[in-house]
Amino acid sequence: MATESISERFGSDSAFTSDHVEFVGFSEKRVKKLRALLEKCGLPLTNLMGVSQKNVYYGTATHDSSNGEMLLPRQFWYIGDSERKKTIVHELGHDLSPFNADSNTAYGSEENRMRTSTHVRAIAKQSLLTNRYLNPYHKKRAESCVKFPARMSMASEIQEALMRTFEEETHAILIELRYTNKKHLQQVEAAQKKRMRKLSRASEFTPILTPPESEPLGVDATLIDLMGDDVKTVTDIDQKARAYFNSGRTFLGRLFGKHIDRRV
Ligand SMILES: [Zn+2]
Repeated sequence: MATESISERFGSDSAFTSDHVEFVGFSEKRVKKLRALLEKCGLPLTNLMGVSQKNVYYGTATHDSSNGEMLLPRQFWYIGDSERKKTIVHELGHDLSPFNADSNTAYGSEENRMRTSTHVRAIAKQSLLTNRYLNPYHKKRAESCVKFPARMSMASEIQEALMRTFEEETHAILIELRYTNKKHLQQVEAAQKKRMRKLSRASEFTPILTPPESEPLGVDATLIDLMGDDVKTVTDIDQKARAYFNSGRTFLGRLFGKHIDRRV
């Protein structure tokens, strides 16, 4: 099945505009800020229907897949620009779930979406098998979604549903880390590879990122499908992600990475 380019799918670059998104509970200034954060990150906003302010201060941002709504705690406005961008990228990862047929358009084809869902499932399984997780949050989710229910011998349908939740989380974390910390993903990949060898399962190993001298694979292939027509290679992803996180940073912030952000 031929894959259409982003501009063929949506006309000009409307996949990246937030005109259709409903914002609930924010001041005009914050809506403007949210639109900029969403539109500049490079991921299509075609599945996103709304962004709402949660009536709580602390807690994590969430995404409601039943209506395409992103929910942000009040704390979102006090965590610094880089953390805000991480949150946006992570939640858009949920919004662009490869396990949802509604995402076919955003991925360019059903075949592309299925390729991503197969990869994400393989990484979720590999993380559990090797006990090497993408980050501490991923590990925590593995324990609550998969390991604990298995120990409690819960009904298999419940275990399957919880495994789906873990896979959804795996996808969002992969996208977030590919944007923010590729080096860390490379380290996790190396640790998983080593462990798979020890388990005598080296032939089943699935890379997270594109191996050297290879066509884009894994989360790189996912992002090339999702991002604009100007993103065709691994280097294009690196550049776009860096530009997003550097936008709005002070000179010192760009120099020292995540530590210094301009206040908004
Ligand atoms: Zn999540």
